[in-house]
Amino acid sequence: MKALVYNGSGSPSWETIPDPAIESSTDVIVRVDTTTICGTDLHILKGDVPAVQPGTVLGHEAIGTVVEVGSGVSTLSIGDRVIVSCITSCGACQFCRKQMPSHCQAFGATGWVLGNLINGTQAEYVRLPYGQTSTYRLPEGMFDAQALFLSDIFPTGFEMGVRYGRVQPGDVVAVVGVGPVGLAAVATAGLYGASKVIAIGRTRPRIDKAMVMGATHAVSTMDANWMDTVLNLTDGLGVDVAIEAVGVPETLDQAFRIVRPGGHVANAGVHGKSFSLPINDLWIQNITFTTGLVDTVTIPILIDLIKAGRIHPEVMGTHHFRMDSMLDAYSVFEDASQHNCLKTVITR
Ligand SMILES: [Zn+2]
Ligand SMILES: [Zn+2]
Repeated sequence: MKALVYNGSGSPSWETIPDPAIESSTDVIVRVDTTTICGTDLHILKGDVPAVQPGTVLGHEAIGTVVEVGSGVSTLSIGDRVIVSCITSCGACQFCRKQMPSHCQAFGATGWVLGNLINGTQAEYVRLPYGQTSTYRLPEGMFDAQALFLSDIFPTGFEMGVRYGRVQPGDVVAVVGVGPVGLAAVATAGLYGASKVIAIGRTRPRIDKAMVMGATHAVSTMDANWMDTVLNLTDGLGVDVAIEAVGVPETLDQAFRIVRPGGHVANAGVHGKSFSLPINDLWIQNITFTTGLVDTVTIPILIDLIKAGRIHPEVMGTHHFRMDSMLDAYSVFEDASQHNCLKTVITR
């Protein structure tokens, strides 16, 4: 089969490798029908994720069709169409049983296994360990691009941003960063009754997209007075919940600067650098701070919300490619702002 292979650092290659085969009784082999590229894949290419070995197929998001099942798989059959979770869950370890498969013990320290510790989804086929507890059935009538971003981005914004941020009815919520994860937080903050959802970003097209996806206000940090604008929207008090969705110290600092006493800062961005927590200012303000890797346990809720027409994840799919143009998809995504690209939709 063809697959997108990480070569150590620099450019990946689209090359022929052996088809995956069942290795364990709980394995499922899925034909990848639709996949996408994540910001995390770009981090891997830059060498920021040393656990990824050269030769690994990248990708942890997909919609696919089951083509083979191990002898221990009872709830999936050949031909079933599934949403592949970016988190592999054994369903039995202490963390999986606590609805926290991000720390599934089956492979050691993390449930993020696909395109990290083993071959991932940017390929014609993928082997999914613990396939029946790491996939969700694609509902009849739902098209791939509607559900594709439920593999990772939408649950990340919803779980790490909105749920960890404990958004309550009436809250003013700010989302710092309007890339895919930030937009997913914007799109789901209203579900808990936020009175205002302030999208804070830099570039215009993305801030405008936030308004389409559910933001009530859009603020650009290119404007020198952006913080005053945010404070004016909250009677000068600051926001109840500030969700950080970029993953750099600068935006995390912005989130801490706009939150009111008693408020929450929820980190949903992928951070590669340490950050000096201003604890001397925070303790006296009763601020709580949460971090986390997505569990994807909200995928069933998000499926129901798509069915009900409450969320529309497909609007994030701005650029479409065929799988044999995978390298073109990478070059567009690597230069996403130049191309006004949010997420790619890559079909076989
Ligand atoms: Zn991802
Ligand atoms: Zn587990």
